[in-house]
Amino acid sequence: MMLRRSGVIDADVLAAIERTPRDAFVPAIFRDRAYEDTALPIGDGQTISRPSVVAFMTAMLAPGPRMRVLEIGTGSGYQAAVLTRLCRRVYTIERHGSLLSEAEARFERLGLTNITTRRGDGVRGWPRAGQFDRILVTAAADDVPNALVEQLAEGGRMLVPIREYDGVQRLVCLSRTGHGVEVEALRETSFVPLVGAYDETAPQEAAQ
Ligand code: SAM
Repeated sequence: MMLRRSGVIDADVLAAIERTPRDAFVPAIFRDRAYEDTALPIGDGQTISRPSVVAFMTAMLAPGPRMRVLEIGTGSGYQAAVLTRLCRRVYTIERHGSLLSEAEARFERLGLTNITTRRGDGVRGWPRAGQFDRILVTAAADDVPNALVEQLAEGGRMLVPIREYDGVQRLVCLSRTGHGVEVEALRETSFVPLVGAYDETAPQEAAQ
C-alpha cells in the first residue's frame, strides 16, 4: 500500500496497517480501489479515510500496548481495527447505526476482540468507561469538545481536527500534563464534519 505520502516510518504503525486488510472495510463496489491512497464513500455521506492519513494519525497518537484508546467516528471501523493492534482496548463511538453495525460485523469477521463499540454522540465521550490514555476524533470539530478533554487521563494525548476558517482544518494535539493541557497545532487535514448532539433515545431514523 502507498504510505509514502504519510511520512510515517514507525515500524509498529506500519505493521499494524499491513495486518489490517482495508478491502474488508470498503463497500464491495470499491474493493478494487481499496489499496489506493484515497478516501472512499462508505454510505450515509461518510468516508473511510486515506491510508496515509490513518498512518499519520496513528503515529501522532502514539498508542502503547497497555493503553485504552477512545475513537470518535467509527465509520468503516478501519482506523479502530488498526488501533486494536497497538493498544490494550479500543472504545469507538459512531452516530450512524447502520455504519456501526457494518463495522461491528467486520470486527467479528476479523476476530478483533479488544474493541468495544457504542452508538451515540461522540462529542459527549464515554464517561462510564472512565478515562482514556488516548483520544482520536476522526471528524472535524469547531472546537475541542470539553467532555473529551475531561476524559483524557493525565499523561494522555488527544488528536482532533479543528475547523479554522474558509474550509481550512488543522489537526490539533492536546496533551494533559500535571499542570494542565498543552495544545500543539499539527498539519492541515480534510475530514468530514463532526455532527453535533442529538437525542440518543430517539429512533434510529429520526437521529440521522
Ligand atoms: N474512522 C473512520 C474509518 O476508519 O473509517 C472514518 C471516520 S469518517 C471520516 C467520520 C465518522 O464520524 C463518520 O462515520 C460519522 O458518521 C462520524 N461522526 C460524525 N459526527 C459524530 C458524532 N457526533 N459522534 C460520533 N460519530 C460521529
